Amino acid sequence: MRFPPFITRLFLQLTLAACAFSQPAYDLLLRGGHVIDAKNGISADRDVAIKDGIIAAVAPRIDPATALKVVNVAGLFVTPGLVDIHAHVYTGTGERSSYAGDLSLAPDGYTFRVGVTTVADAGCSGWRNFEDFKDRIIDRSKTRVFAFLNIVGNGMRGGKFERDQTDMEVEPAAQMALKYKNIVVGFKTAHYTGPEWTPVEHAVAAGNIAKIPVMVDFGIDHPERPLSELLTSKLRPGDIYTHCYSGLRHELDEAGNVNAGMIAGRKRGVIFDVGHGSGSFAWRIAVPAMKQGFIPDSISTDLHVSSMNSSMKDMLNVMDKFLAMGMSLDDVIRRSTWNPAREIQHEELGNLSVGSVADVAVLSLANGRFGFSDMYGARLQANQKLICELTLRNGKVVYDLNGLTRPDWTTLPKNYMQTGDPRWDSFTPQRRTPGAQTAPARKQ
Ligand SMILES: [Zn+2]
Repeated sequence: MRFPPFITRLFLQLTLAACAFSQPAYDLLLRGGHVIDAKNGISADRDVAIKDGIIAAVAPRIDPATALKVVNVAGLFVTPGLVDIHAHVYTGTGERSSYAGDLSLAPDGYTFRVGVTTVADAGCSGWRNFEDFKDRIIDRSKTRVFAFLNIVGNGMRGGKFERDQTDMEVEPAAQMALKYKNIVVGFKTAHYTGPEWTPVEHAVAAGNIAKIPVMVDFGIDHPERPLSELLTSKLRPGDIYTHCYSGLRHELDEAGNVNAGMIAGRKRGVIFDVGHGSGSFAWRIAVPAMKQGFIPDSISTDLHVSSMNSSMKDMLNVMDKFLAMGMSLDDVIRRSTWNPAREIQHEELGNLSVGSVADVAVLSLANGRFGFSDMYGARLQANQKLICELTLRNGKVVYDLNGLTRPDWTTLPKNYMQTGDPRWDSFTPQRRTPGAQTAPARKQ
């Protein structure tokens, strides 16, 4: 039997209208949490709705009937996905004792479980091996990975390479940064043992060409190149001094006061970053500096094989230390989201503005007896600790500590299989019919 064409058309239109009507406005709704979004000046109870991987609405109340999936996050903090601008993730080359190898870590195992959705690799690769790093790690990680390009062409492969002034070439470094300007966010100089200013000067020269900041690990302390000169004349506003509480380069003077060059540098717009690592954070430096009002612009981990299980541990543990020193949670979150996003000139990140990518961390703040160690093994006791409950990347759940987004198994049908939906869940397995079997591969 055939219907006249106009009947067929009408039927088709009605079907399409019904489909559109039943389509929920949002894929995921985080309901009842306390949103901390420094860019937008929000620290208040807000619902957050996500559609197609994008923040679609932030409001005191969003109708749960408008969302495909509603997650109750009452009592928890909802923040932008954390941005860690000092990590070492160029692993997999097989090179021993090298940050372009065995000293680095694959990011995904260390990021989502602590709310981090973006890392910047701090100079593991230089212009000679950046494309290998990109192919090996950046293009294959679920974590968003940016890079500070080492001013040393060979990158962070050990002293022999990092001391070689002839491999600190400005032009090829700048050209590689310009070629990958969506990934390369700055230049890095690190671990330099000589008395020369060459690494800093060349990194700044490359930064001027590519219009990106320089991050400095100031290496071995030398009277020929004092910290105050670095901060008051060598670096530009927007350049980043990392390891700012290490105490290894006179961050505090003999009298225990913050180096006058640090204060003058900050006035000029130089950025101060934590870069905790395994050997760059001491209570005897950080506590007096904080008491004198010298607080960091950004909190970062310096994640690598030696810091992952040491006093550093992970991003939240470093953030906890600033809570322990009296920084407010709002200020800690700002320095782990919006501030670092701005420092690396990626202002589309580190915020929960409508239209931004839905990279989100949901955190709880536990009360109890906790201890936090520094690089020398000295402990500071405190009573609060951040825990990551849920992480979203591009609007999809990539980490869910307590199954917050999942139904209780007793509420499901006897033969339940898939419980998620690819619109909000990155773990949703392929839908399979119970009992169905794949045909065994035939032997040739
Ligand atoms: Zn580092």
